[in-house]
Amino acid sequence: MGRAGTAAAAERWSSLYDLARERLGDRSSARWLVEDASGGTWPGVLDEVVTARTGEHFMAMLARRERGEPIQYVLGHWSFRRLDLMVDRRVLVPRPETEVVVEVALAELARSGVAQPLVVDLGTGSGAIAISVAVEVAGARVWATDRSPGALAVASANLSGAGSGAAGRVQLARGDWWGALPPDLAGTVDMVVSNPPYVAEGEVADLPPEVADWEPGEALVAGPDGLDALRVVLAGAPRWLRPGGAVVCEMAPHQAEAVRGLALAVGFERADVHADLAGRDRVLVAVLPEGRRQPH
Ligand code: SAM
Ligand code: GLN
Repeated sequence: MGRAGTAAAAERWSSLYDLARERLGDRSSARWLVEDASGGTWPGVLDEVVTARTGEHFMAMLARRERGEPIQYVLGHWSFRRLDLMVDRRVLVPRPETEVVVEVALAELARSGVAQPLVVDLGTGSGAIAISVAVEVAGARVWATDRSPGALAVASANLSGAGSGAAGRVQLARGDWWGALPPDLAGTVDMVVSNPPYVAEGEVADLPPEVADWEPGEALVAGPDGLDALRVVLAGAPRWLRPGGAVVCEMAPHQAEAVRGLALAVGFERADVHADLAGRDRVLVAVLPEGRRQPH
């Protein structure tokens, strides 16, 4: 490689780390690239000698990151709660606010006291929500849907790699929102959890280039006011949920009042908004009345 002296000189990871820090201006990404390419343990790996093959892999990843590709796609995986999920351009990068969505959903499931709940994740992408629920809630059965075949392929790979017997309890289904589910699930679902697209068409220009240029548009954008997908998810929920069932969905902070209103308008009786880690309104939890006959 030759940057650290003569071609024969042994190059150590510390010099590649310095190179990446300098070129990216970002020490976290530099460290992740070193850890990933070397497979070594931080910080001991910095003293280890770089092999030709791992060095080439590192330089290729560094070049991709320099061109603006999100670090998560460059690494090819990203952590979400207890999972290490494979991610590529077919799926949205799983985000910290969605970890909070799962946290809120788990709390609501615990509150409801249902053993082995039936949960639906609409628009599963990498499978982040669905697989987390299956791994973290003993015996939960989960339907995970998406319209995108590419996303379902990624979710399927992630499911195969998940422990806790999750693979046997998560069913993947392709289709347009509720249309992906078998009709006989109607009226039986304990909870629907969804992080649908919620960016308004007019807001796309304001997204950071790392998001707008690299992540799938169909994972992000939902009509003129960003509410097209949330309307479908909420309006369909009363038909699929059992009486007393709940919906938990992610939204943009400025949509909180509108989304709460949509939930109350379709028959949910309690609709609360929870904050994300930054303290912004991010998660709606709405619960159907108990014992009411569901419209079919
Ligand atoms: N659940 C994942 C997460 O939280 O990281 C991905 C969420 S991403 C914001 C929204 C997902 O909805 C994408 O995977 C996208 O393919 C899917 N989607 C978009 N339109 C859809 C539709 N009409 N029916 C089903 N899924 C759809
Ligand atoms: N949090 C994403 C963003 O801002 C939006 C995700 C979504 O639409 N569900 O960019």
